[in-house]
Amino acid sequence: MIIFVNKKRKYYPNSVKSRRSYTLKEIAEIYNLHIRTVQNWIKQGLKIIDMSHSPYLVLGQEVRDFLKAKKRNRKRSLKPGEFYCTRCHEPRRSIPKHISFNKTNKLLGKNEKQIIVIGVCMVCGNKLFLFSSQKKVAEMKKKGMKLIEKDKILIGNEGCSLKTDKKNVKDSEKNEFKIWAQGSLF
Ligand SMILES: [Zn+2]
Repeated sequence: MIIFVNKKRKYYPNSVKSRRSYTLKEIAEIYNLHIRTVQNWIKQGLKIIDMSHSPYLVLGQEVRDFLKAKKRNRKRSLKPGEFYCTRCHEPRRSIPKHISFNKTNKLLGKNEKQIIVIGVCMVCGNKLFLFSSQKKVAEMKKKGMKLIEKDKILIGNEGCSLKTDKKNVKDSEKNEFKIWAQGSLF
């Protein structure tokens, strides 16, 4: 049995040449998509050169701009109190009693230290990480989020040297964290 995993994929805007024009079929082939997905992009605002001509043509530069905007929107979609779950591939909230935070030794600006907020996905139970700042954590507390400070976990600038009680953090989670820290899931 083949199981298809519905993962949010990455589109590389520069896979198309900016000055060339493409048919929808060509765009679908370049990004390995169903043509219907590209048709949906048109509905979402991807511009066609001339609506009266068939087959429709799209300028590469338009595809690039559209995909870049799409990426920005996805980043913006994280609301306060939300985490990006690497298992659900969606913004998720944490089970409130499992939210904690850790100071890292990375400085943000002059006085502020980076903070990592850790939670547990309400939907799938996956561990959630969110890079934040002391200021943002203070704001979260004001809004009524209960955050417990844990000083057991220390994370250095490398972003992957996890020192913690070993039974809590499995290797897979460490790897997940590494991927997350590199930002490749965003
Ligand atoms: Zn999840």
